Amino acid sequence: MVKETNHVGPSPEEIDQVSTPPVPGVDGPGRTVLVCVAWPYANGHLHLGHIAGSLLPPDIFARFQRMQGNRVLMVSGSDCHGTPIMLTAEKEGKAPSEVVDHYNAEHIKAIRDFGIAFDIFTKTTTENHERNVQDIFTTLLDQGYLEKRTTEAPYDPGAGRFLPDRYVEGTCPHCGYTDARGDQCDDCGKTLDAHELIDPHPKGAPDGRIEFRPTEHFFFLLSRFQKRLEEYVADKQPHWRPNTKNFTNNWLKEGLQDRPITRDLTWGVPIPLDGFEDKRLYVWFEAVCGYYTSAIEWAERVGKPDAWRTWWESPETESVYFLGKDNIPFHTIIWPSILMGFSDGREARGEKRLVLPYDVPANEFLNLDGKQFSKSRGIGIWVPDVLGRFDPDVVRYYLSVNMPENRDANWTWEDFVAKVNDELVDSFGNLVHRALTFTEKNFGAVPEPGTLGPDEERLVARIRDVHAEVTDDLAHSRFKKALRTIMGLASEGNRYFAASEPWRLVKEDKERAATVLHTSMFLVRSLCLMLAPYIPFATHRLWKYLGEEGAVHATAWVAALEPPTVGMKLSVPEVLFRKLDLKEILQPEAPESSAPQKKKEKPKMPTAETTNNEVTIDEFAKLDLRIATVKSVEDHPDADRLYVIKLDVGDLGERQVCAGLKKFYAPDEMVGKKVAFIANLKPAVLRGVESQGMILAGDSGDAVAFLTPEKELPAGAKIR
Ligand SMILES: [Zn+2]
Repeated sequence: MVKETNHVGPSPEEIDQVSTPPVPGVDGPGRTVLVCVAWPYANGHLHLGHIAGSLLPPDIFARFQRMQGNRVLMVSGSDCHGTPIMLTAEKEGKAPSEVVDHYNAEHIKAIRDFGIAFDIFTKTTTENHERNVQDIFTTLLDQGYLEKRTTEAPYDPGAGRFLPDRYVEGTCPHCGYTDARGDQCDDCGKTLDAHELIDPHPKGAPDGRIEFRPTEHFFFLLSRFQKRLEEYVADKQPHWRPNTKNFTNNWLKEGLQDRPITRDLTWGVPIPLDGFEDKRLYVWFEAVCGYYTSAIEWAERVGKPDAWRTWWESPETESVYFLGKDNIPFHTIIWPSILMGFSDGREARGEKRLVLPYDVPANEFLNLDGKQFSKSRGIGIWVPDVLGRFDPDVVRYYLSVNMPENRDANWTWEDFVAKVNDELVDSFGNLVHRALTFTEKNFGAVPEPGTLGPDEERLVARIRDVHAEVTDDLAHSRFKKALRTIMGLASEGNRYFAASEPWRLVKEDKERAATVLHTSMFLVRSLCLMLAPYIPFATHRLWKYLGEEGAVHATAWVAALEPPTVGMKLSVPEVLFRKLDLKEILQPEAPESSAPQKKKEKPKMPTAETTNNEVTIDEFAKLDLRIATVKSVEDHPDADRLYVIKLDVGDLGERQVCAGLKKFYAPDEMVGKKVAFIANLKPAVLRGVESQGMILAGDSGDAVAFLTPEKELPAGAKIR
């Protein structure tokens, strides 16, 4: 009998069991693996892009490595400094420390609820981080890798202080957008320097003034590491992903530039020198040091203060860094250089060198309907919200099978529901449930098999082949491919089970039925072990239904090749996954985010007031409506959905508009057409391209059509 449960996700007890890794031993057999995970900013909720890009892959990797008997330490934490956090704090009327503590706690909970098992997830505001980062700074200074230089920085004479780039606003020199920031233009997306802004002024004070004044800063002499980095990269690159290689080689080819590592700011790690009280270390410099400082903190926490050395001081350690592609150069160029310089100093004082990154499997981006998650607004974006609605395993499954490993991937609700229902529920879940309940009902335990037939021989051989292939893929961070292979085996198992008809055999040939069911339980057990890194909660429960001792995550990876023990008592399983309903997911009542839940107002019935939106003839006459001829249609350089269309509007000359018509018309179908056009719409800049007016079209929801004059009219003719 299927027992239905109403809770969506795992119980607090299961979360605790699944998300707490065992304390790794510091010696004994096995390889030493350091899993370093990019530090998310502590100024907002985690979204699914974070999970897919940098949090889920290392968890799969670390679980696999632990099951292989290796010594795994997985570290990360919240990146707490930098101006985005100061801006969030100002907006929320709080101290920066309050903001980061709040989000750090939220992130820790979300990560655990997702089944991501860190050995430590700390933050960059700890005393430990500050002390060890200052040691790195002082050591680099002593080694001659830092240099004091004077630069010009934006200064607010009204407030009497230097301003970070993000606190300077002005007009973008590229697109003319008037609210561009000193680091970037949000309209055209170009990276800027405060010097380039036209009419710069302090943020929020358009009448204020900015001066550029000299200020003294420390520069990290990155250029001095060029040769050593080239050698290091040549040594490691053979096993790097193409995107990691490309980003890194481009930086090296352009030649490394010295970079300032301090700035005029009071939120951040202080500089351990007199005369620098109003300056702090740049966040890009100190946050990457967190991989090292957090290992030291972990060792303190487990009461073995020297334990971190096992991972950091052995040249044998495989240190693997998981991150999004935007972070690659920080992990293949900057962090290795800091480590090289710091290690020179450590060696000089009789300490061991620290290990350099071994692999840097960077992911591409996960988009939501073509847009970056971080910039999207809609249902199911934020992790706390997602976890309130879905079992974490179904989300982990979809993110893994759709992982942005070598190219950007797209999240769509249709595909999410299809993959979960067809693969996880109908293929794997169905096999597990049928095989387990049928065996339990007829034998109560794993039955003794008779002689294997050719189908059983073939299936057992497939288990071995798949296990070997998956082991190699997981060791090389090919998570999507490995999962596809495992799920292929589940489908084969389903076909085997159906074709063998155990329900018929159990009446006609009990020994043959026992052979089929034993082989089926062998397959289910192997699948459970191989899927444990991907769907930790379901496999944790399944392992118990199989009557196995201990936790699946503490079981040896190679045990997937062993058949189940004859006589092992089985339990009736609860359903592992339930089907998802697309309509239910997309219903408009669904909460948009976990942020303070505002009760949705019921839609108002139309009243006289809301329907009374008549316009006068004078108001209508204000619109300059014209017939225009489409001259050319090109893709927008920076927006996938938009065309840039050039129009001939007769006496008004040529106009250019941006229009989202790609789904409805190919460029060829449009060129030469006469269309209805609003000529006096206020121009707008769409992603860097000015749009001067609007083409009118009929829109039924799924069909869109131009309005074309019924008789030949010249371009520029008025519509009234
Ligand atoms: Zn711009």
